[in-house]
Amino acid sequence: MPLLDRYRRLITYLRVSVTDRCNLRCVYCMPAEGIPLRRHEEILRYEEIARVVRIAVGMGIRFVRLTGGEPLVRRGLTDLVRMLRAIPGLEELSMTTNGTLLAIQAQSLAEAGLDRVNISLDTLRPERFRRITRLGELRDALAGIKAAEEAGLVPLKLNTVVMRGVNDDEVVELARLTLEHPWHVRFIELMPLGSHILWEEDRYVPASEVRRRIEAILGPLALAQGPAGNGPARTFELQGSLGTVGLITPWSRHFCPSCNRLRLTADGCLRPCLLSDIEVDLRGPLRRGAGEEELRSLIQRAVELKPMRHHLEEMGGPQGRAMVEIGG
Ligand code: SAM
Ligand code: SF4
Repeated sequence: MPLLDRYRRLITYLRVSVTDRCNLRCVYCMPAEGIPLRRHEEILRYEEIARVVRIAVGMGIRFVRLTGGEPLVRRGLTDLVRMLRAIPGLEELSMTTNGTLLAIQAQSLAEAGLDRVNISLDTLRPERFRRITRLGELRDALAGIKAAEEAGLVPLKLNTVVMRGVNDDEVVELARLTLEHPWHVRFIELMPLGSHILWEEDRYVPASEVRRRIEAILGPLALAQGPAGNGPARTFELQGSLGTVGLITPWSRHFCPSCNRLRLTADGCLRPCLLSDIEVDLRGPLRRGAGEEELRSLIQRAVELKPMRHHLEEMGGPQGRAMVEIGG
């Protein structure tokens, strides 16, 4: 039976946040001092995550993406990858990471069964990378990208949050990467989440402007098929390119009508929508010894609670959790 919500959207994709911790403090995601962290015992154990995923896959989930905070700061992540990979019916297991800890882990993650990674990369300039991430080094992210390719964690997607006066002058350089590499560079509109400072400073750049700036220098962006993806990106390509350019437009053109996803927070809540505070707690029932049937009905309930669309413009973003706790 397919997993359908009230608006007949097919739910096939689950994002699993494995930790609320991060080794970076990106300006759009977190305040400089970080956020209050959950206690260790509040975070789902790998066995608990695997149980939820197994049941969800039995209900129709086909694609699982690990995220954080930064998923690679959680110890033993390869163990979780191995557990999830063994679940029959799971078509794809991927991860979103800042890439800075990936160089030493890429090979073992691939061997454990991770299919591919998305790496966040907002700039190609070392000084700027330090300023945006507050704690990171560009060379580590680039080493992560190289290691991911060598380990076969492809097709590789790179995610760039575009911010006026911060990195918007690099969109052409970043798009140019797709001419030389089989990479899928996706430009994400800044959302008024996480750290609101940038939003208040008017750093938002619409994707239409990103597109214009790329086309003015590199020529037309033609609609493309894009790599197998289950996400909200509209995909384009430059003539003769090896990769694609994606535009992700949560603000200027929302993709709620085709939303196919649920999110599991690190502390065990199912979130039907990134941008709404509605949650269904699974950790309590899991630890009280809930059976398969009860967990199935809680997952079903989360699907039924999916709102038709987000109300970011009218109501602002979620109040209950920071972006880093939800994992994008
Ligand atoms: N730490 C991992 C990473 O950076 O890729 C995974 C978690 S991070 C929260 C997931 C994605 O959310 C990243 O690609 C990040 O750029 C994006 N993100 C965070 N805050 C954002 C914001 N305010 N607007 C748009 N995207 C944001
Ligand atoms: Fe950490 Fe990712 Fe947020 Fe940056 S975007 S602070 S790397 S969770």
